[in-house]
Amino acid sequence: MSDLRELYQQLIIDHARHPRNFGRVPEANHTQEGFNPLCGDRLQVYLSETEELITVARFEGSGCAISMASASLMTEAIRGKTVVEINELFCVFHELMMGHHRPSDEKKLGKLVALAGVAAFPVRVKCATLCWHTTQAALKDSQQTVSTESC
Ligand code: ZN
Repeated sequence: MSDLRELYQQLIIDHARHPRNFGRVPEANHTQEGFNPLCGDRLQVYLSETEELITVARFEGSGCAISMASASLMTEAIRGKTVVEINELFCVFHELMMGHHRPSDEKKLGKLVALAGVAAFPVRVKCATLCWHTTQAALKDSQQTVSTESC
């Protein structure tokens, strides 16, 4: 295993064991439950926006290490972004999960690139994308235009 892969694996384990932004937000503007029956991952996403920026992004739930780490990394990645930016980021992340990402995407992905190895395991891709699909559904009631860019 290369040093980089080992570093990525450590990052995933750290986020799975100590998820960031974990916990309920009763006053959130948007909340949505997500479920991945293939693995049993279940999570609830809480989002609040202020002046078109997502200022609160938290989640709670339980599931495999990949689903928890992905949700933890996602909440860090989307906070401070607009809904349009989040949809664009999901498209890039989705490409990563399909094993199609380009080196130029890595800057946009930031720490999310640690999940690149998941692409080799199609069943686990659903674990990693659950939080993103849940977030998109939570934002559907948003006043903002959702990106028409299909994933
Ligand atoms: Zn899972």
